[in-house]
Amino acid sequence: MTFDDAPAWLLIGMAAAFGAVIGSFLNVCIYRLPLDKSVVWPASACPQCGRLLAWYENIPVVSWMVLRGHCRTCAAPIGVRYPIIEALTAAMFGLAWWYYGPGVLMASRLVFGCLLILLFAIDLEHQLLPNAITLPGIVVGVAFSFFTEPGWMASLIGVLVGGGVLYAVAELYFRVRREEGLGMGDVKMLAMVGAFLGWKLVLLTLMLASLSGSLIGLVLIASGRGGMKYALPFGTFLALGAAAAATVGRPLLTWYLGLL
Ligand SMILES: [Zn+2]
Repeated sequence: MTFDDAPAWLLIGMAAAFGAVIGSFLNVCIYRLPLDKSVVWPASACPQCGRLLAWYENIPVVSWMVLRGHCRTCAAPIGVRYPIIEALTAAMFGLAWWYYGPGVLMASRLVFGCLLILLFAIDLEHQLLPNAITLPGIVVGVAFSFFTEPGWMASLIGVLVGGGVLYAVAELYFRVRREEGLGMGDVKMLAMVGAFLGWKLVLLTLMLASLSGSLIGLVLIASGRGGMKYALPFGTFLALGAAAAATVGRPLLTWYLGLL
């Protein structure tokens, strides 16, 4: 059996399995990047007792379920974030293979998706969007644009529009409210989104993020939990908006412009 006659489900399954391994690496990055630790060294250990993990404790999703979310030695709980990120990344790789098919566009979208997962999880936990992700992300996004969507011109304009618009909003917000509503991390993140998706879809991303952010904010205020406003950082909404724009952005834009 050659690669070409392999049944589609088998290739999608292999892509998903590979994604689970990548998800496992993303977990390492989510844990170590905010602490300014190396993501390649040393090997994974229990953060509580420091014991190095055996290979069979490092199998994505499966190990967590077998160990029922606890370290085998010290019984410290292992966050449910680990299997969730692994399963999510696996699903993303399987779906990307099916939706885009193997090629440069799929590679670009997968790299972008991994960066979004990192930013989403780190922003949720630490209210932080590390430069170590966003700045290289901008460069990689522009580099991909020479070979696939949206093309290098749209990508470069996307960086300027994404970063620029949000920078202007942040500056305006600061002048009017005298408090910082948006951080420079959000600005660099949106510039990265612009690099990967181009200027049209970066504007859609900003629209979707603001819309979903306001909706959730209203729900929290209505339910008397208005203080929760700051518990959900804007970067998480930018990540969700960008994921939507990267997959269904074009049909969504066509539909929206048809309404005008
Ligand atoms: Zn332990």
